[in-house]
Amino acid sequence: MAKLPEQPVIIGAGPAGLCVGWNLAMDGLPIKILEKTNEVGGLCLTFRDDDYLFDLGPHNIHTIYHDIFTFLRKILGEYLYLHTPKVNIFFRDRFIPYPLKGINVFKALPLSAVIPAGLNFLWARAKMFMYNPKNDHSFERWIKNRFGHVLYNYYFGPYAEKAWKINASELSCYVAEKRVPVISLTDYIRRAFKKPPKITHSEDWSQIKNYYPRKGVGQIIEYLAKSIVDNNGKIEQGVEILSVNGTGRRVESVKYKQNGEIKTIKTDFLFSTAPINDFIKVLNLKVPKEVREAASGLDYCSETLLYLKTSRSNIFDTPLTYFSSPQIKFNRVYDVGLFSKECVPPGKSALCVEYTCNIGDEIWKANPEELFNDAMRVFEHYGMLDRREVDGYSVRRITHAYPRFRVGFEEKLTTLLDYLSTLENVVTLGRQGLFCYANIDDVLHMGFRVTEILSTIRKKGIDYSELFPKYVLF
Ligand SMILES: Cc1cc2nc3c(=O)[nH]c(=O)nc-3n(C[C@H](O)[C@H](O)[C@H](O)COP(=O)(O)OP(=O)(O)OC[C@H]3O[C@@H](n4cnc5c(N)ncnc54)[C@H](O)[C@@H]3O)c2cc1C
Repeated sequence: MAKLPEQPVIIGAGPAGLCVGWNLAMDGLPIKILEKTNEVGGLCLTFRDDDYLFDLGPHNIHTIYHDIFTFLRKILGEYLYLHTPKVNIFFRDRFIPYPLKGINVFKALPLSAVIPAGLNFLWARAKMFMYNPKNDHSFERWIKNRFGHVLYNYYFGPYAEKAWKINASELSCYVAEKRVPVISLTDYIRRAFKKPPKITHSEDWSQIKNYYPRKGVGQIIEYLAKSIVDNNGKIEQGVEILSVNGTGRRVESVKYKQNGEIKTIKTDFLFSTAPINDFIKVLNLKVPKEVREAASGLDYCSETLLYLKTSRSNIFDTPLTYFSSPQIKFNRVYDVGLFSKECVPPGKSALCVEYTCNIGDEIWKANPEELFNDAMRVFEHYGMLDRREVDGYSVRRITHAYPRFRVGFEEKLTTLLDYLSTLENVVTLGRQGLFCYANIDDVLHMGFRVTEILSTIRKKGIDYSELFPKYVLF
């Protein structure tokens, strides 16, 4: 077994930080977690608002890791239930099932675009079949190469720009690879004959098993946090990290501010789940200039969430609905009651309306009433929901919702990880820490590898591409 640290410190009390902490606390270590906010759970927290339980955006669990599933089943028991949520896209004023399947998209296109879109799509696929497309590096090129420019202009381009708040030519093809299921022509034919496709994609919800904790995803967090505290671990909240200090390649202490008081804590091993670029900023070692520059080239999308408590349920009949039109400012709505009836009072429901945004922009600064009016303008226009059916509303904001994968982000991230891998007692991990598109199960999986991380780093230093290949190899 790896030699365990004596004074481990963990930055961030999201699922990644808590899972590392939980594993070390179970080994009897005096762990300390430093959390920036006054809440525990990061993006996975569930908060109570009167009789409602709200997640920060929709949180479904689907995993390929058998051990993670077994762990979740063990801690949540019957609370973890299997559901098959339908997902719709509101595209050109009609609902069509997600992921987009040929015939549905074509039905929603204007008549004049159907034949050009069809021919263009077939031509794109034929070209793909004949040779691997070049210039595939941006979201725009990747989609055009697989779906053709007509479908790109009608659907993929406008939605991507709305969701990521940058031009789709600046957005990396990595986003498309992760989020857009490409169904091969043969699988289209198989589906037409109701046969299962040969290739499944993690975003194709019709092909994967989805689970949800009946009382919200925060049930996982509650378990981890409680077990840590019960095992003498400490979770300090409302902490502002001022600097991470050390000598040479070793970190020795963390200086932070809490309730106006400046404190310093010693550490012999530091796990950081804070955004990787923020971590580099507070690292008070000899960090090369190009590393600091690379850190400043990475950024995250923010989100503003509007919660509407509704006097009726089943507003969209689907737990998740995407809104693709650039004229509609929000991009997704999740129906809380359709995720779990136990999160809403009987006979009622709630909608969480998600707006991706940037800190300081018009959406970020909008007050709750402005957001409420904005959402209701759309819902009332389409007869989806009347404001008289809304019992109340509230707003939450997330600074780091999604790493923004700009073209070329890989080189910057590699520069940061190459540098961090030279440190002897520091590991960055989690969704923000590795700047990756990781889900709950992924970050729990990272947390469970803590012993392996410790033995690897002691033997030969850390190699992020060896340890976390799924997240850092592009
Ligand atoms: C809208 C939305 C929907 C999602 N849906 C799903 C889903 O359906 N299924 C799924 O599996 N996953 C989903 N996810 C992803 C899931 O939430 C993340 O994978 C998970 O929360 C990542 O955990 P983490 O601990 O790595 O990061 P986080 O949850 O971001 O936690 C990081 C923690 O570190 C703290 N922190 C940051 N900086 C500092 C600092 N300088 N000092 C101290 N503390 C700091 C933060 O406050 C936070 O508590 C979704 C995410 C979003 C935004």
